[in-house]
Amino acid sequence: MLPLLRTKQFFPPKKLIQTTHFFFSTNNHHGPKTNHPSPPPIQVLLTESAGRGVFATRKIEPGELIHTAKPIVSHPSLASVDKVCYFCLKSVVKGSGFECREALFCSEECREEAKGFYEVEKKADWSAFVAHCRIRGLKYPLLAKRLACMVISGVTSAGSLDILQPERLSAEMISQMEEEFGLLRGALEDSGMTDEQLAFLNIEWYAGVLARIRINAFRIELAGGSYEDLLASAIASVESEAAVGNAVYMLPSFYNHDCDPNTHIIWLQNVEARLKALREIEAGEELRICYIDASMDRDARRNLLLNGFGFECRCPRCMSND
Ligand SMILES: [Zn+2]
Ligand SMILES: [Zn+2]
Repeated sequence: MLPLLRTKQFFPPKKLIQTTHFFFSTNNHHGPKTNHPSPPPIQVLLTESAGRGVFATRKIEPGELIHTAKPIVSHPSLASVDKVCYFCLKSVVKGSGFECREALFCSEECREEAKGFYEVEKKADWSAFVAHCRIRGLKYPLLAKRLACMVISGVTSAGSLDILQPERLSAEMISQMEEEFGLLRGALEDSGMTDEQLAFLNIEWYAGVLARIRINAFRIELAGGSYEDLLASAIASVESEAAVGNAVYMLPSFYNHDCDPNTHIIWLQNVEARLKALREIEAGEELRICYIDASMDRDARRNLLLNGFGFECRCPRCMSND
């Protein structure tokens, strides 16, 4: 227990940059359509020191579901691709899903929603691209591939991730991406896509997308059980067998990090993210999640945050040398 950390320091919001109603569904999505639930109790503001942040607009109770979020783009891990829905990542028992060539879907609804990328994707031969990713243990190029297919089919724009913070890439990192980019572009060219359809698909687009995916993607671990079961177990960002895939979200990406967070991001049955309060949050307080395994010691946390996310953690827990 860290009682002295329970009262959070937070920087006063500087300026409202946007309201966030476009980015999430409300927590009342099972209710009748005529029922207009109140918007989630949060707003996205600019902070003094950490760029954008998410702030409470009223007091939030411990355990409260703050909002849910659907991904901009998601993809199963290669190890899970024959076990989970190709669209929503829900577990599928083989033979019970709606199999559509090699892709597995949990429902007709997901198969319909997947048309936004799958109609383009299934025309191409991805074996070289997938083999490249598998051999090198790469997961993020799969998200870039799906996004490229979504752009080609017109369901999203080439700049749909631009609002997210990018990682600073070295020239060496970009040159390492050239081979996977070549395999991606080659697969689409060979499937009969025209130069006009692929006009956006250059190495600059690819590197820009990867730079955003690399620091904004969430590793999806499905809990399956109840939220209460989860309160005890920290969701870690380290590699785990339990991960079914990766996804990039808009609003959840605006949450800043804290090694002693007041908010938790969890997944129950599928890729829809649920943001839950871990304790009471005051109106005006910043909501923060933990990007890494909070049970690691201070040096390990700070190294991972610096190398993986590019910032030196100055959260109250780190500042108190815990
Ligand atoms: Zn599904
Ligand atoms: Zn910290």
